[in-house]
Amino acid sequence: MFTKRFNFLTVADIKIGIDISWLFIAILLSWTLASGHFPYYYPNLSTSAYWLMGVVGMLGLFVCVVLHELGHAMVAKHYKLPISQITLFIFGGVAEIKKEPQSPKVEFLMAIAGPIVSIIIALVMYYLTQVGNLLGWPVFVTGVTNYLAIVNGIIVIFNLIPAFPLDGGRVFRALLWWWKKNLSWATKISTRLGWGFGSILIFFGIFSFITGNFLAGVWLAILGLFLQKAATSSQTQFFVGEALRDEKVENFMKKDPISVAPDITIKEFVDQYVYRTHHHLYPVTENGELIGYISLQEVKLKPQDEWDKTSVKKVMVPVSKFQTISPDTSALEALNLMQNVEPPTLLITEEKRLVGILTANDLFKRISLKLELEDGNRR
Ligand SMILES: [Zn+2]
Repeated sequence: MFTKRFNFLTVADIKIGIDISWLFIAILLSWTLASGHFPYYYPNLSTSAYWLMGVVGMLGLFVCVVLHELGHAMVAKHYKLPISQITLFIFGGVAEIKKEPQSPKVEFLMAIAGPIVSIIIALVMYYLTQVGNLLGWPVFVTGVTNYLAIVNGIIVIFNLIPAFPLDGGRVFRALLWWWKKNLSWATKISTRLGWGFGSILIFFGIFSFITGNFLAGVWLAILGLFLQKAATSSQTQFFVGEALRDEKVENFMKKDPISVAPDITIKEFVDQYVYRTHHHLYPVTENGELIGYISLQEVKLKPQDEWDKTSVKKVMVPVSKFQTISPDTSALEALNLMQNVEPPTLLITEEKRLVGILTANDLFKRISLKLELEDGNRR
């Protein structure tokens, strides 16, 4: 779902990473601050001073966003919701939780924790600015603290808009969920509101751009697009999760898959299996017991003139090197596991015996059919 991210910090077992969009935002933000905000409020400083303030202000915002996300993460941790990672995006971050919160109360507390952290930072920065002004700190310092007070205030206001998956949207979803006791319905309403709010931002962005307020126009349009994308993917993620949680892998894995004997040569394997059945990965079994797998990747590692001299067993990936699953694994877990393997295929075993194979394709076909049938039922 999320494109390019880089981990840079781990706090309390939570990996914090930045999305590549942050680099773009970092430049745009430093530039906005150095050429717009600071020169406007604090005239007669040098260009290099403005740029330094701009970069420090940008980094300060970055830290504030991390603290805000950690606020969410700590509450999640307290309620034993596994947080896999935090990814910082434009204007904020996303704390990815692997499970939906267990009750409206937990969702509410988790959602409100981030804005509370931001309110506290805003107040601290505000008082620092006041104290700095009284004690005659240089404008270079108070300018930045004042900016951080304002921007944290903006983060609070922006995040409290009831547009899912913004914090306000999560608060709103928690209230709807608590009211009707129906999480699916609450998710649907609140993600639609999030998408709609994104459209309004994009509309205002284009309007500002046309009427000459370019920078504000670009900011609004970026936020709007971000919000729409986030709303759509949260909705998909939720319903896919719903559709798959109670499904067992055994109900749609391919049973009794074609398997390869370990002592045939690679050439025999390619001629008799790959060219005939066109799969990307084949389990290797000995007396019904799974001992490894071979895929095109392993074949490609050997030069072609050695194919008739090398056995499958020599190049296969042994079973100790990858994860197999049991037939009663939930489809949701299979989906999560599949995202980390290449080619995206899982082998299903029962006490070392190979019983099935599951490819990403099988899984996605199943998901789309299920969602289509259930959507028909809801109407
Ligand atoms: Zn938040």
